Amino acid sequence: STQTPSVFSRAWSRWMAVPLWMQILIGMTLGIAVGVGLGESATYLKPIGTIFVNTIKMLIVPLVFCSLIVGVTSMQDTAKMGRIGFKSFVFYLGTTAFAMTIGLLVGHILQPGAGLDLVQSGVDETVKQAPSLMETLINIVPTNPVAALASGQILQVIVFAVALGIALVLIGERGQPAIKVFESLAEAMFKLTDMVMKLAPYGVFGLMAWVAGEYGLDMLLPLIKVIAAVYIGCVLHIVGFYSAALVLLGKLNPVHFFKGISNAIVVAYTTSSSAGSLPASMKCANELGVNKKISSFVLPLGTTINMDGTALYQGVTALFVAQAFGIDLTWVDYVTIILTGTLASIGTAGVPGAGLVMLTLVLTTVGLPLEGVAIIAGIDRILDMARTTVNVCGDLTATTIIARSENELNVQQYQADTSSKES
Ligand code: ASP
Repeated sequence: STQTPSVFSRAWSRWMAVPLWMQILIGMTLGIAVGVGLGESATYLKPIGTIFVNTIKMLIVPLVFCSLIVGVTSMQDTAKMGRIGFKSFVFYLGTTAFAMTIGLLVGHILQPGAGLDLVQSGVDETVKQAPSLMETLINIVPTNPVAALASGQILQVIVFAVALGIALVLIGERGQPAIKVFESLAEAMFKLTDMVMKLAPYGVFGLMAWVAGEYGLDMLLPLIKVIAAVYIGCVLHIVGFYSAALVLLGKLNPVHFFKGISNAIVVAYTTSSSAGSLPASMKCANELGVNKKISSFVLPLGTTINMDGTALYQGVTALFVAQAFGIDLTWVDYVTIILTGTLASIGTAGVPGAGLVMLTLVLTTVGLPLEGVAIIAGIDRILDMARTTVNVCGDLTATTIIARSENELNVQQYQADTSSKES
């Protein structure tokens, strides 16, 4: 029995020598296999995933708060700050409207709802109320910053952190002690993110086992066309549109980009939460060579207001519902869908399932039956995983391009593929 620990410790050290991204991939594959094998009872493995999700959620508020203050205080130049904010906003809204259009195109060409011949029952589904755009705008300033931090209201946290950062700069010398404290805390939060990411392979295993076990083939097959349409749209948007944006706007090779953000992609795909993926995204952005000044502002902002995947999904599923119920849409409806979808995506929270709630808003504005939401709800997690991945890739693309345009991207580091070599 003296042999056992040494066998274990040898296996363990061999496992630890595997690079993190491959560990995560192995966790994901094993999770799917185990989930398919166990079926429903794979739900017992979900807590492993939940613990991992809780651990990354634990990082979000302090990470955003401290690193944003550091970002603002190190910026000095207020004109530059305004410019970055403006660029982010334009980029985020523009890409979302584009994503919505891709979703409509894919839904139009692939006709995922054709032949379903569903009939409206006339019974209204009771649906959760989506927050209006006005509400989102009004709530942007926190009445109580501590409450905003405590309840994790990211937009409010951003507003307060930026304001506090500016004030700390304005008081000059007397701001230095506090700035030093935030710098040290931000550093610690980055280290903590590093540590938490090491848990990703196990968390991803638990999450994938649960998803694969819960959604067997019987559930997926009837809706396979809409699933395929959403996935095709998402892949097109990521591989086609983001790559093109990186090449044309940033003069950057997208291959380095996708290698560098692979960890964030897996975390987004398996957790279905762009807010939850924020720590992983920040880590990837920094490893890609994006200056923390930029990433600490543009990424949290994107996580809350930029939802390309959600918009794309709304385009596809709105058409799916129209086709399934045999309803013809006019081009005015299409434009309305693009506008409401883009605005609704600003108010969508980066948490699992939020996009489904927003879908009711889009369907209502063009008079599509809300029963469609009930049909989509059955498979929503599968769609959520794909759209969240697009959401996170969109935030990272914007951050990288904006950093590049502000001369805050270390191009040598970008080309060195450091994060994929790192173990
Ligand atoms: N789960 C998505 C996200 O976190 C939001 C959505 O449900 O569309 O980005």
